[in-house]
Amino acid sequence: MNDLQQLPALLLPWYEREKRDLPWREDKDPYHVWLSEIMLQQTRVEAVIGYYRRFLDALPTIRALAETDEETLLKLWEGLGYYNRARNLQKAAQVIAQQHGGAFPNTYDAIRALPGIGPYTAGAIGSICFDLPTPAVDGNVLRVFTRYCEDGSNIDKQTTKTAVAQTLRPVYRSPNCGAMTQALMELGATVCVPNGAPKCESCPLRGECKANKNGSWMFYPVRDTKKARKLVFKTVLVLQCGDRFAIRKRPKTGLLASLWEFPNADVAPTEQAVPDAAAQHALTFASNLGVQPTDLLLQTGYTHIFTHVEWHMTGYLIRCRRMPDGFLWVTKEQLEHEYALPSAFRPFWELAAGE
Ligand code: SF4
Repeated sequence: MNDLQQLPALLLPWYEREKRDLPWREDKDPYHVWLSEIMLQQTRVEAVIGYYRRFLDALPTIRALAETDEETLLKLWEGLGYYNRARNLQKAAQVIAQQHGGAFPNTYDAIRALPGIGPYTAGAIGSICFDLPTPAVDGNVLRVFTRYCEDGSNIDKQTTKTAVAQTLRPVYRSPNCGAMTQALMELGATVCVPNGAPKCESCPLRGECKANKNGSWMFYPVRDTKKARKLVFKTVLVLQCGDRFAIRKRPKTGLLASLWEFPNADVAPTEQAVPDAAAQHALTFASNLGVQPTDLLLQTGYTHIFTHVEWHMTGYLIRCRRMPDGFLWVTKEQLEHEYALPSAFRPFWELAAGE
């Protein structure tokens, strides 16, 4: 392995010079850092900035987060996906309010013990907010590390992440622990990039990096081979009765648990393939729900990709005469401002809202 001890000298000046101006870097408030780290999981920086500001405008303190109602919380999270992240944020805020007097805990173990906080997030908050020597090892850091050292360990294994965190620990030195975490992440996000060739010519590690010396970056990091996603085909109904639209809550467990949705059902791919037959099937489905459909107005297709599943959906806007129980019948305004509709269903709403 090449000399990791050189990392601070190579990385920290580069980070000070090149770091992006991001709202969660304006201070070291653990609430801000924590929120940004949770939002950034699975989501691009550019997409997170607006959500981050809006969330803090609505819930400026940990106590406000602890006390807000679930509907407000999920509405603020609408479109970010992985809604359990938001629920865990609130659970952790409640623990902080009840067990820590509202002050964010300042040891790694106490941070790690909070709901929804794994080793990576605990390391990030510990190092950035409290200057603890606790490396935060995410995909960006693993990519930089494995290329720098030509380390062929499988980064999808927890043992690899733990080993990398332990190896990096000695290069975390006060008062620069937070800057080390952020420099490694920044390098992975902007220079040693995930898709396509790394920008080695502008990397501060290029003189020491083994992958750069040997032209071997494409072999690192080593990962599990991905399993193919399961394909699910669905009919989605946007049922309109007067100025009201039908939504319902999803089951309490599983994908998009307890979130709002338009009525929908799985169908065979063959049923979706013939447009007229599929539309007839949608009308029958609506009749079976007891809404007495009068017109089928519009139809659109959309594919939503989750981590392990793809939903191939065909949605229909159907006018109807009755508003049976079993649904919440809401106005456009209510759906826009009060109820969180996951991204998977958004395109159908946009279709209906534009009508
Ligand atoms: S020199 Fe290239 S491969 Fe090595 S860490 Fe920098 S960007 Fe990545």
